Amino acid sequence: MKVGIFGGTFNPIHYGHLRAAEEVRENLDLDNILFIPSGKPPLKTKDIADARHRYEMTGIAIKNNLFFRLSDIEGRLKGKSYTVKTIEGLSALNPETEFYFILGIDAFLDIPNWRQPEKLIAATHFIIISRPGFRFTDLQMSPYMKISKAILERLDNKKTVMHIAKLRSNMKAVLVRLTRIGISSTEIRKLIEQGKSIKYLLPAEVQSYIIKNKLYRS
Ligand code: ATP
Ligand code: MG
Repeated sequence: MKVGIFGGTFNPIHYGHLRAAEEVRENLDLDNILFIPSGKPPLKTKDIADARHRYEMTGIAIKNNLFFRLSDIEGRLKGKSYTVKTIEGLSALNPETEFYFILGIDAFLDIPNWRQPEKLIAATHFIIISRPGFRFTDLQMSPYMKISKAILERLDNKKTVMHIAKLRSNMKAVLVRLTRIGISSTEIRKLIEQGKSIKYLLPAEVQSYIIKNKLYRS
């Protein structure tokens, strides 16, 4: 089994996340993708909806996709959640499964600030996805991989869709260029705060949930 792990704050989940997961699953032929909304995130604290709400919204958003699953492994923790622990836990419970941690270029470059980064880098394969505002060539700054500028430029310039690289830890890093969708949760929260429409940025049912529960209004 090849399973993608898609972690995030999902505050709230939006079409950028959903389309990314769909394209990754199809391109890499993953058996399924496990969405893991974070519990109390160690780094973000301001402006963040309750873990329960983010879990519910993620569930609503993915319910019609047979390949998408929802996990409360982080949300049910009382304290903070750390990716390294989550991955170790999942691997211990599913020794036969090959796990791929899916994240945007922005998030991959942030890993040095996470808990036990070296351990995390050695604990799983990675799928690093494009995201408007970031370029694959930015990955030259990453301490965890050494990859030629030419290969990264080919991805940025749409000459290739995918490249399989090796991390220094010897795990795989699959770089995948996706349809560009410039949506972010931050932008959605801002729009709500300003009383503006968020229609077509996320599933209508998630929008209804936000309204019903009065999320993101100060
Ligand atoms: P925020 O603005 O609150 O940080 P976000 O939109 O970045 O929210 P996250 O929950 O932080 O969403 O992201 C989870 C993962 O999804 C990260 O790895 C991030 O890089 C990726 N991601 C988020 N939005 C997009 C997008 N529009 N296209 C591609 N990847 C995305
Ligand atoms: Mg983010």
